[in-house]
Amino acid sequence: MKYNPQQYKIKDEAMKPFIDADEIWQFLDNAKPEKEKVREVIKKALDKNRLSLEETALLLNTTDNELINEIKNGARELKERVYGHRIVLFAPLYIGNLCTNNCAYCGFKSSNQSIKRATLNHEAIVKQVKALEDVGQKRLILVYGEHPKYDAHFIAESVRTVYGVKSGNGEIRRVNINAAPQSIEDFKIIKDSAIGTYQVFQETYHPETYKKVHLGGKKADYDWRLTALDRAQEAGIDDVGIGALFGLYDWRFEVMALVRHVNHFESVYNVGPHTISFPRIQMASELDINQDYIVTDEEFTRLVAILRLAVPYTGLILTAREPAKVRDEIMQFGVSQIDGGTNIEMEGYAEKTDNNKQDLDNEQFQINDNRSLAEIMDELIQNKYIPSFCTACYRNGRTGEHFMEFSVPGFIKRYCTPNALLTLAEYLEDYATPETKKRGYELIDENLLKLDEANYKQKVIERLENIKQGKRDLYF
Ligand code: SAM
Ligand code: SF4
Repeated sequence: MKYNPQQYKIKDEAMKPFIDADEIWQFLDNAKPEKEKVREVIKKALDKNRLSLEETALLLNTTDNELINEIKNGARELKERVYGHRIVLFAPLYIGNLCTNNCAYCGFKSSNQSIKRATLNHEAIVKQVKALEDVGQKRLILVYGEHPKYDAHFIAESVRTVYGVKSGNGEIRRVNINAAPQSIEDFKIIKDSAIGTYQVFQETYHPETYKKVHLGGKKADYDWRLTALDRAQEAGIDDVGIGALFGLYDWRFEVMALVRHVNHFESVYNVGPHTISFPRIQMASELDINQDYIVTDEEFTRLVAILRLAVPYTGLILTAREPAKVRDEIMQFGVSQIDGGTNIEMEGYAEKTDNNKQDLDNEQFQINDNRSLAEIMDELIQNKYIPSFCTACYRNGRTGEHFMEFSVPGFIKRYCTPNALLTLAEYLEDYATPETKKRGYELIDENLLKLDEANYKQKVIERLENIKQGKRDLYF
């Protein structure tokens, strides 16, 4: 299944120079958010149309509270209408924090003498992954600093190590990575290790700000980073994630640039990025950034709702950088993936370091949602979300799954919901407390009632029974 950029009439727009800061500012300066126009744009998004840069700018410039509520309600409705109540769970695993770059916002920067540097060797990776599998994780993102030691072979090897670890019924079925930009040749080496998504964030799309906060190392080269995902595509990695670090520059500019990046992808490769991440700057060891662009909780919520409306078929990732309260609030506006049970201290999962006592000299930045995976699962279930560990599309070679969910009639009912229910049942059988298990099966029963195709429903019921009998890894 491929995108048809013509359908969204973005070809011409996308063929202009890829990121042009003046052009983005022109869009923002010219957008006058009159009531009727804003309402039309929301309606257009609700009719499952992709928004243009002009339309996105209108939403970003809206300051009227009534209209802002309409934007948020629109995002919530779109999410419910299209994606339902599933939420995919994953966990980050830091492989190494050596770094030759000097990013002002990051605890791992090369100038930071107080950070404890470490790289997980084979045994240490196995130990961490076992600990992650033992609480029920199935999807990981491996994270690396930028260092000659972490070359493509090292990254590929660490991915293979993770896939090889099995503990009880536990296994990691999808390994994504967040690592420095590579050459095409090196991306090919990494692709061969069967990564899921390759993720790299531009941090700020504003070239001058980029220069100010990237004070040394290869990351100081804006263009090398901006074109990383194009090289990944050339190397055959078509499942990629983009992102911006909010708090470095004007948040409206960054949202426009993210949408611009999506346009570029659709236009050139006929497929948009799989996911967008929007980390917000958190405390870090020796954090050194200008406070002018701090994004408030309200602005943050708004920007997620606007992204949902602007690029309705791209997955949105919200991480444990944000406190539980903010995450719970924002999830309803269209987030598709969250991390759960996150511990970003080096070797933190197996050592069971207490997340409530974070040591900033041992991690990249502070996280603010310290709930365990078990707590998050239970809360999601109580709030009627269906937590999912599904990896079926990736393993069946169905790339662009968010787009398919969005555009292929019946796709969610046929694949996503059944697979979410099956992976939830696995979790309930193997890792949940008796209370969560009871609540979880009630949720499964409620959702089974909504699956209407009689035969298909029957197949799901049979597979659920098989899971109760001890079978694992059943998917459609
Ligand atoms: N070294 C890789 C790179 O630079 O792409 C991995 C980076 S890091 C593990 C993943 C992301 O964390 C970064 O791209 C950045 O957006 C984010 N990050 C860095 N410092 C942060 C901070 N103080 N608060 C929140 N997020 C931060
Ligand atoms: Fe290194 Fe990445 Fe941190 Fe920059 S953000 S200092 S590249 S780990």
